[in-house]
Amino acid sequence: MRKLPEFPPPHAPLEAIDLPWTRSARVQLYLKREDLSHPFIAGNKWRKLKYHLHSAAELNCDSIITFGGAYSNHLLATAAAGAKHGFKTLGMVRGEVVENQVLRFAKLFGMQLRFLSRELYRDKEALYHSLQKEFPDAYLIPEGGSGPEGERGVAELVQELPMEVNHVICSVGTGSTMRGLLKGREDFQRNFSVQGIVVLKGAEEMQSQFTEFSSESYSLHHEFHFGGYAKTTPELWEFIGSFAASTGILLDQVYEGKMLFGLKSMVEAGRFEAGETIVALHNGGLVGMLS
Ligand SMILES: *Cc1c(COP(=O)(O)O)cnc(C)c1O
Repeated sequence: MRKLPEFPPPHAPLEAIDLPWTRSARVQLYLKREDLSHPFIAGNKWRKLKYHLHSAAELNCDSIITFGGAYSNHLLATAAAGAKHGFKTLGMVRGEVVENQVLRFAKLFGMQLRFLSRELYRDKEALYHSLQKEFPDAYLIPEGGSGPEGERGVAELVQELPMEVNHVICSVGTGSTMRGLLKGREDFQRNFSVQGIVVLKGAEEMQSQFTEFSSESYSLHHEFHFGGYAKTTPELWEFIGSFAASTGILLDQVYEGKMLFGLKSMVEAGRFEAGETIVALHNGGLVGMLS
């Protein structure tokens, strides 16, 4: 068997955020700086890749195939993690051939890219089947690093949260980070609630992914997608700018800008009680801002 790739606990400190809106609601907000764990294998992608790479090593696979859109933080993270831990990587990219900074970096880390029409990309079963045939020794990681391996890695992060936390808030794309948090909450017997800000439009059916968890343990919020995935408005950019200018912390516009905008709106609407402690996950995603 290959040696298991090492993923020591990342540098992802809690940073207290003290702003007029947290002060007037008398809530204590911490940003968990998962974005600081690595410049490219950042945030939840680091957490989610850990056990996928362990499985790949256990199965003696020397290459990894994964999937994502043209701006996928997961493709880039997999490229960098593959390079670091000695796996060849192939990225299947949804849609027509394009160039951007995310894919450029992925290629620099040695990832080969293949572009796939949306139709072929959508039919995952057929796609997995044909890739497995073409690359019998490759390990396939689902889009976004999801699945039980990904969730297990995210669940571990719960051990790094302070005992007094009442709510943990995260952005929701595929939902696997939120599932991992809810698993971790059970595994480590904690009783915070998990608040998910959904960044996709019309994703109400997402609820079905969470039915195994008690309905008191989480809420999904669908009112902060700003028109849909990767869509922005001047109001969102203004919020990102004022947050950056008053904290020194940059939020990406696809996920964490929307998540913190949603949190601020909920805090201002009195959805949290005075004295409560909230931890918000910052999962990085900043390379996509440069494209
Ligand atoms: C991938 C990603 C997410 C979404 O995580 P899911 O587990 O797919 O819900 C959120 N934030 C950032 C910065 C990401 O890169």
